Amino acid sequence: MTQPNLGRAYDKLVGYQQKTARFSGISALLGWDQQVMMPPGAAEERALQMAALSSLHHERNTSLELVKLVDQSLNESQKGWLSEDEVFNVQEIKNDLENEQKTPARWVEEFSQVTGQAFSQWIEAKKNNNFKSFAPVLKRIITLCQERADFLKTDQKNRYDVLIQEYDPGSSCDQIDPVFSDLQKNLYPKFGHYADAFAKISDPFSNQRLSVPMADQFEFCKKVAQDLHFSFDYGRLDPAPHPFMTTLSATEFRITMRGSAEDFREMLYAVIHETGHALYEMGLERRYYGLPMGQVKSLSLHESQSRFWENNIGRSLEFMSGLIERLKIYAPQVAERLSASSLFQAVNRVERSLIRVEADELTYHAHVNLRYDLEKALIHGDLSVQDLPGAWREKMKQFVGIVPTTDAEGCLQDVHWSGGAFGYFPTYSLGSMMAAQWWEKIQMEVPNVREDVLGWNWDSILGFLRGHIHSQGRRYSSQELCKKLTGRPVDPAGFIKMTCQKLDQSLTV
Ligand SMILES: [Zn+2]
Repeated sequence: MTQPNLGRAYDKLVGYQQKTARFSGISALLGWDQQVMMPPGAAEERALQMAALSSLHHERNTSLELVKLVDQSLNESQKGWLSEDEVFNVQEIKNDLENEQKTPARWVEEFSQVTGQAFSQWIEAKKNNNFKSFAPVLKRIITLCQERADFLKTDQKNRYDVLIQEYDPGSSCDQIDPVFSDLQKNLYPKFGHYADAFAKISDPFSNQRLSVPMADQFEFCKKVAQDLHFSFDYGRLDPAPHPFMTTLSATEFRITMRGSAEDFREMLYAVIHETGHALYEMGLERRYYGLPMGQVKSLSLHESQSRFWENNIGRSLEFMSGLIERLKIYAPQVAERLSASSLFQAVNRVERSLIRVEADELTYHAHVNLRYDLEKALIHGDLSVQDLPGAWREKMKQFVGIVPTTDAEGCLQDVHWSGGAFGYFPTYSLGSMMAAQWWEKIQMEVPNVREDVLGWNWDSILGFLRGHIHSQGRRYSSQELCKKLTGRPVDPAGFIKMTCQKLDQSLTV
């Protein structure tokens, strides 16, 4: 059937969605500015600006105009006027629309109001180590999340499964539980061995001999990001209190960084991590900006990119000489004190610790596992908020082998629950498992790829990631893409084997 001359509703739908994406980009810019540049006196008015944009966003995502355009585009797709990618875009936009419509406006408003308050209450509670002051608002947030799960439920087995969809569509407890059971059985029992082995070796960073002034660290980290193909024609790196990456448009990506003069590892690895996120966003198909084929499917896939660069590449022995060469430009005396093998050992140290964001590559997953178990129990009503601190300590003892003495170092340490982000945590571990699977696959497909790492030549690796992952947009769920690329679902075996091999190697260099 021939298409009408007047243009397709699909093209109008594209224009509509891209305009919505531009509003999101403006929100992201305000958010970036809030954390990087904004003077403190502007905070209240800035929060109002961002709330105004987010209500505009909700209006656009549920408007009659959008409903009409989606209906007409579906009609065109049945007539065969749309390409395969276009049909996919319309289907996904329709699913997003239905989800938005299922959530009542009064819920959206209350959720944003409650989580807004909860954020400042969480900061205070953490500062004063006072869980009791945070408990009532946390309880309210859990009830709101349970309500949301009931609004959005389709064929999922339980409320937590519904909540995961927001962060890892297609995932479920039935897929995630075995991943963590495997880690409990085959990884956590190794913590003692590695922690003891590293405790016997002194950390070269411990006596400030490797201090690098912050200004030089910024330049060093910028150089590393640039040489990993982060383009400064389309991006920036700036200091801020928290490291993050944000996308402002199809052509603008910003990373923030923080660190300490005594230990450049913190900033360096946060920057490599965020660069991995940015490379993913930079690799999305620009022609599909604002549309499902130009978006990231899940946070676990996103995390599979950041952790791939941070851990599989950035903590490998082959990566080290190039790193030292670059450090030489900004801190020659410090670079002189390091060899590839001493730096390799220093960036792979294992230590039992209380704080998730400071944990090493190995023990990190025990921290995630604990949060996954506890938030599932909270959402399903099997754990009450008042029992959370005790349950946290028990799990820490069981999984990590040490116990916090304060709630500030226990169940108050993360921001996620204050924002109602239940279902987010497991994506960190799933991302690491997938990153190991990608690395295994790349090593099979690209001969001598370790020499490419040695020479800091990223064409083959980036080509693989762009071709198989970045360009796929929202086409596949993380589990589907993992099976398609590696023949296996998300599976910790590769991660455990590769990480332990690397640690053994770093202990013997
Ligand atoms: Zn990340």
